[in-house]
Amino acid sequence: MIKVTAKRLKCSACNSSDLNKFSHYGIDLIYTRVAQKKKNYNFYICSKCGYMENRDYKKTDLKKLKYDNYTFSSKYDSRDLYLKELIINLIQNEFVKDEYQNIVFIEYGPGKRLNLLLELEKCFPNCNFYAIDPLYSKNLINQIKASNTNSNINYIEDIKKLKIEKAIKKIFIARNSLEFTNPNQLREIIKSYFVEDCLIISEINTPNILNSGSIYLFTECLAFYNKKSLSEMFKQEGLYLDVIFSTKLYSDSREFFIAKLIKNSKYKNIREFRSIFELVSYCDSQSSNSNFVMWGAGGRNIMFILNEGRNLINKVVDIDSIRIGVVIPDFGKISPISDIEDKDVIVCLNSRFLTKIRESKPNNIILLLKEFD
Ligand SMILES: [Zn+2]
Repeated sequence: MIKVTAKRLKCSACNSSDLNKFSHYGIDLIYTRVAQKKKNYNFYICSKCGYMENRDYKKTDLKKLKYDNYTFSSKYDSRDLYLKELIINLIQNEFVKDEYQNIVFIEYGPGKRLNLLLELEKCFPNCNFYAIDPLYSKNLINQIKASNTNSNINYIEDIKKLKIEKAIKKIFIARNSLEFTNPNQLREIIKSYFVEDCLIISEINTPNILNSGSIYLFTECLAFYNKKSLSEMFKQEGLYLDVIFSTKLYSDSREFFIAKLIKNSKYKNIREFRSIFELVSYCDSQSSNSNFVMWGAGGRNIMFILNEGRNLINKVVDIDSIRIGVVIPDFGKISPISDIEDKDVIVCLNSRFLTKIRESKPNNIILLLKEFD
């Protein structure tokens, strides 16, 4: 018999061939009380971007199962309360400030987790709201409408039917839904709806092979993204995913994050590092003529200058006039950002400052410490 070699598998998120394959026992559909026989599921995980895929994924017809997540999610849990406050605060202070009249909110997800969208609608009454869910039934929509008579949320069954001009700013909420969206579908969504300054708010399952097998309970899920694989995919479409907030939920089995999208071209010349150690090793390997400038004189940065980064940084700059001129022991004075020269390499330990750095210094090389996985 001739052995046929299967076509070499590539990561559907980043196209790398560097994949680790493994299999795990699991069961389907535990939440429906119909736990089928255990079976073997094959996964791959990409060494380059961390994307993981269930090779034995079989689409679950939740509609058939009458799975109703709306009833669950119309009751608050503490997570919803916490996230609601956080999202509203970030939208008001960091994202749209006083121009949130034309924002479109889109909640994308199987299961009717509409609580958050209803709350956001109360806060931003002049915006447009769309809830996209392939599981909507007329009955359920009527039920939701009857209990929220002031709401103007538009319900759409298939994201492909959503017609909104691409240029309009959007806040795209995808909680526990990217797991059912393969990278090609996600690429289509990015192409159709995302432009610079859109905000993505997401909650994703985060596989952690080292810590627990619990993630493999999600045998009904296809795709397991992390921030890095999502960054790769947005990058392919010309957008830089600037994560402005992230937190782990339920120990570390889920992650919630908020990210802003910025044109790749504005974020050129950025080199990212996962740890201070990697960043310092890189700086040490550069020629002694390099001019490393620390952006910001906050506590973490000062500790860096006094410890790992001693003898490395030539200048510390800050935008806060109160800090300018303050003397750091064994180092010297804090300078204004106008002292940064074109040849300087900016060291940034907090990605929140990236937007500000790019506004004032669009061409300098930036070394960025970035939490990634
Ligand atoms: Zn990959």
